Amino acid sequence: MEKNAKIYVAGHRGMVGSAIIRKLQQLGYTNIITRPSAEVDLRNQQQVFSFFEQEKPDYVFLAAAKVGGIYANNTYRGEFLYDNLMIESNIIHAAYVNKVKKLLFLGSSCIYPRMAPQPLKESYLLTGVLEYTNEPYAIAKIAGIKLCENYRLQYGCNFISVMPTNLYGPNDNYDLNKSHVLPALLRKIHTAKIKNIPTVEVWGSGSPLREFLHVDDLSEASLFLMENYSESELVNIGTGTEITIKDLALLIMRVADYKGEIIFDSSKPDGTPRKLMDVGKLTALGWKAKITLEEGIRMVYKDVEKMNFEE
Ligand code: GDP
Repeated sequence: MEKNAKIYVAGHRGMVGSAIIRKLQQLGYTNIITRPSAEVDLRNQQQVFSFFEQEKPDYVFLAAAKVGGIYANNTYRGEFLYDNLMIESNIIHAAYVNKVKKLLFLGSSCIYPRMAPQPLKESYLLTGVLEYTNEPYAIAKIAGIKLCENYRLQYGCNFISVMPTNLYGPNDNYDLNKSHVLPALLRKIHTAKIKNIPTVEVWGSGSPLREFLHVDDLSEASLFLMENYSESELVNIGTGTEITIKDLALLIMRVADYKGEIIFDSSKPDGTPRKLMDVGKLTALGWKAKITLEEGIRMVYKDVEKMNFEE
């Protein structure tokens, strides 16, 4: 990407989009464009098509999506399917029509079958049944991957797909009904600490295994792939290491210096038992995650301490 190329970041207010913009700015890119959703509703085909026709971006980072944790995915099932299908179809098609040089589509590790062998290789896509709690989101993201793949095959578009593992970092969602586990536990543990509450509630059994990547590592990897990868197969982005939800809670308790007890709420779902990325392909291409989970949690906890959570 030339430093003055016109780069459109879709989803600039979200955790991923804002991290990509920070990284682009750090690296000296000068022509980054964004649009608030009040002006361009990405679910609206006409609005997206006129925006692309007007702006003619050279490069696109497709980081816009309706996202959420296990509860939101399982509750707003129709919205997760419809909104994500519309957003990606509109942007990918508009990018093709307006001759975008390259587009990077962001998916998620939940696209892989629930019981796929671990670690998850890119080739396991569509080899089994999906996890039901996030099936609508996964189906939409798989459709996005297939749009990129087939627009490449039919029209020669240089569109690539990357699949990040569970992410955390600045601009995360701390709404307990919508958030992912890491920000939720940061909020709950911090609140318990400052209010002297002796216990903290962790959903499910605590035994599922998850992998966590700081969003600043994700944005670096995304720029790296935008520069160095132009194939139709997706690429996993992760750390290659995993932790149980219970150990994650214990780690956050240590960082927050909270000495209370964990109570497991078994009425809440566990979701997929394990979700570890195989990052062999990305490593072979020449990129590795740099921020360890403990470092990342310490960085984020500094922000959490300044937040004023309403009950
Ligand atoms: P998932 O990776 O799609 O399953 O999404 P989440 O990040 O929401 O959940 C990961 C795991 O953490 C699941 O097993 C949840 O049950 C568990 N978990 C424990 N406490 C919480 C919590 O307070 N919020 C959320 N979202 N998940 C929690």
